Amino acid sequence: MSEYVESLMADVVEKNPGEPEFHQAVREVAESVELALERHPVYRKEKILERIIEPERVIMFRVPWVDDRGEVQVNKGYRVEMNSAIGPYKGGLRFHPTVYLGMLKFLAFEQVFKNALTTLPMGGGKGGANFDPKGKSDAEVMRFCQSFMTELQRHIGQFTDVPAGDIGVGAREIGYLFGQYKRIRNEFTGVLTGKGIDWGGSLIRPEATGYGAVYFAEEMLETRGETLEGKVCLVSGSGNVAQYTTEKLLDFDAKPVTLSDSSGMIHDPAGIDREKLAFVMELKNVRRGRIGEYAEKYPGVTFIPADPKADHNPLWDIPADCAFPSATQNEINAKDAANLLNNGVYVVSEGANMPTVPEGVEQFLAAGILYGPGKAANAGGVTTSGLEMSQNSLRLAWTREEVDARLRGIMKAIHKQAMETAAEYGTPGNYVNGANIAGFVKVADAMLDQGVV
Ligand code: NAP
Repeated sequence: MSEYVESLMADVVEKNPGEPEFHQAVREVAESVELALERHPVYRKEKILERIIEPERVIMFRVPWVDDRGEVQVNKGYRVEMNSAIGPYKGGLRFHPTVYLGMLKFLAFEQVFKNALTTLPMGGGKGGANFDPKGKSDAEVMRFCQSFMTELQRHIGQFTDVPAGDIGVGAREIGYLFGQYKRIRNEFTGVLTGKGIDWGGSLIRPEATGYGAVYFAEEMLETRGETLEGKVCLVSGSGNVAQYTTEKLLDFDAKPVTLSDSSGMIHDPAGIDREKLAFVMELKNVRRGRIGEYAEKYPGVTFIPADPKADHNPLWDIPADCAFPSATQNEINAKDAANLLNNGVYVVSEGANMPTVPEGVEQFLAAGILYGPGKAANAGGVTTSGLEMSQNSLRLAWTREEVDARLRGIMKAIHKQAMETAAEYGTPGNYVNGANIAGFVKVADAMLDQGVV
């Protein structure tokens, strides 16, 4: 690594203490975009990277609410408005007990480059709270969302900042958040995406991240004259991204064999078919149960409980062709990456954000497998959020076929940009460099045009 990146990173670590995920995300981008900085000295002269890593604005607020027993609860709420050079801030809200400022800064930072890749005019942001919707009643979730939005509404708007869902924020939460925004502001605008289909939502938005990750894998395979048909696929998670990844894999006649949640993983060697997937969707989205129930219902299925002390995840130690990490950050450690490669996996398409640790990414790149980093592979979600914003502005709703065709076309374009940029900068096949540089250059050029702001 160059002296420049070393000193930049030392500065980032000093100024952002205790935020390891943010350091990790910045380091990965800095190492990639160094190639662009060398080719375009003006980026360094104008301190573009130094500016991009500093959020334009961070909002932190108290979220008080009353639980079903009448007890007052207090959570921390956040919105990180990272970069608005190419459009309004855009990025999800995460409700999970592990949420803290550093995690949201990492996610907002990644979002800036991802959104730039989508070809749509969206800046980057991310927000959320250290609130755990698990085990809460609908009424408690509603009161929490109302309190959260009571503060957040001052800072967002269809032309300013347009949040969406992420971990722990699905259709139910977006509904409560939108209801409160509309009530306070007395306006019906596309201020959130992931809305219900009868009140401004887009068809395909719930499916988009998972579908997009599978489209991206299909694009990568096409470069080798292959398709997903018949491929054995490992999927982690069992939430929004995992469910629709599984559904699209079935559309392509692939064979998904695993799912997981924070309590453990299931392995179904016979394959997760449509009927079993419908069971998972009901289990997770309606009953909000644990994935272990899958193994109780279907014969021949192994359930392995999560072991926080284990040095690897058994889900990544199963012979397969493709892997779709769709749960959370850093869920593939160095040993998991080695296990994947040893078991024959040669396609990794990341539905989750930064699911692979840097040592794992290095192994994938060294092995020359088809590795699609989250920034590119999971951009389908925000792409369709962008399409939802377009439909809201037009006051029109496109058909399912139209949205899906646009999503597929944009995933194709993202793949092409990442592939061509990687080759242009002398690292053919390296989608990490390709995605980071292509996203960076677009934002950097807009920042140059707009002066020092
Ligand atoms: P989700 O519906 O809440 O599902 C998350 C899944 O991952 C659940 O099965 C959850 O298990 C599991 N999980 C979460 N944190 C975990 C942890 N620390 N350890 C083990 N398992 C964990 O969320 P999602 O929308 O599918 O998001 C999944 C990933 O995709 C995240 O990295 C997110 O940032 C990324 N992503 C999402 C979108 C989108 O449109 N939704 C777009 C781009 C990227 P439990 O239920 O047990 O917690």
